[in-house]
Amino acid sequence: MTVIPRSHPRYRSLLVRAGLSEKMQAGLVVPEGLMAHGRGEAFDYLLGERTSPSAARAERSAAARLWLARRPVVSVNGNVAALASREVASLAKVIPHLRVEVNLFHRTPRRAELVAQELRSAGVREVLGVRPTARLRGLASDRSWVDPEGILRADVVLVPLEDGDRAQALRRAGKFVIAVDLNPLSRTALVADLPIIDELTRALSRLRVEALRLRSASRAVWRREAAAMDGASALREALGTIEERLVKLSKGLARGRSGPYGRAPSTAARGSARPKRRRPPAGARRYRSRPGTSRRP
Ligand code: ATP
Repeated sequence: MTVIPRSHPRYRSLLVRAGLSEKMQAGLVVPEGLMAHGRGEAFDYLLGERTSPSAARAERSAAARLWLARRPVVSVNGNVAALASREVASLAKVIPHLRVEVNLFHRTPRRAELVAQELRSAGVREVLGVRPTARLRGLASDRSWVDPEGILRADVVLVPLEDGDRAQALRRAGKFVIAVDLNPLSRTALVADLPIIDELTRALSRLRVEALRLRSASRAVWRREAAAMDGASALREALGTIEERLVKLSKGLARGRSGPYGRAPSTAARGSARPKRRRPPAGARRYRSRPGTSRRP
């Protein structure tokens, strides 16, 4: 087992990666899941590794949608089970009619059982989709299997880390699709009715907090909160967050300020023609001219 020093600047990220690779050896996560995680991490860098104000609004809107839904389902794959089983269980405790269903791109009976076990040991009482008997139209392969008591009859489906084809098939089947995806350009984010552009564990934790806050509100309040965010705004604002952050960072670097994770690269390393400032010789006095006092012409 790799020992990760707590002092490492990316301690949490390394810990999550080590956990995922252990779960891969146990058969819960597939190798493709590790790549998907890496893609997510890259977008989290761009987003500043925190929930943006627009993601927070999408999370509130999603919580209201789940309260309004008659048959909401959260769909869980290997990565979600490995990273956020506890968060899924806590959300399902707050919203009692939210059902939890296993959904695997690379499905084998053993993997489906492993995902269900992971969810049960985190506190999920009932897990659907372990032996699904219905199919979603328009999807080839094992991805089309769904539970007749779960996704097949659901009106709202929360799909953390879904693939684009399946998200599209769910929409075509008339479901309201809430996706959680750090990549605002993924097909899943683009086709979802409400994409939450945030990291999975942050998003599910905030969804739970918002669901608790809205629990005893009226349907009119739920409707108002649900309508306060739409898919196009969620995507536009997420791209805006990335744009603002990149512009701010690149301006900071151009002025020689430190970058987000420490010192800026040296001028030479950046290939800039800007001359380096010379240090004054030891013992030399420094003068700073005040405005209007310069003797230069
Ligand atoms: P699509 O078919 O939607 O274009 P994709 O091929 O980009 O998807 P997949 O491999 O199906 O990606 O799924 C990975 C997606 O999940 C990526 O878009 C990635 O940004 C996102 N992702 C990975 N880890 C996380 C996480 N922890 N939190 C939120 N999103 C994540």
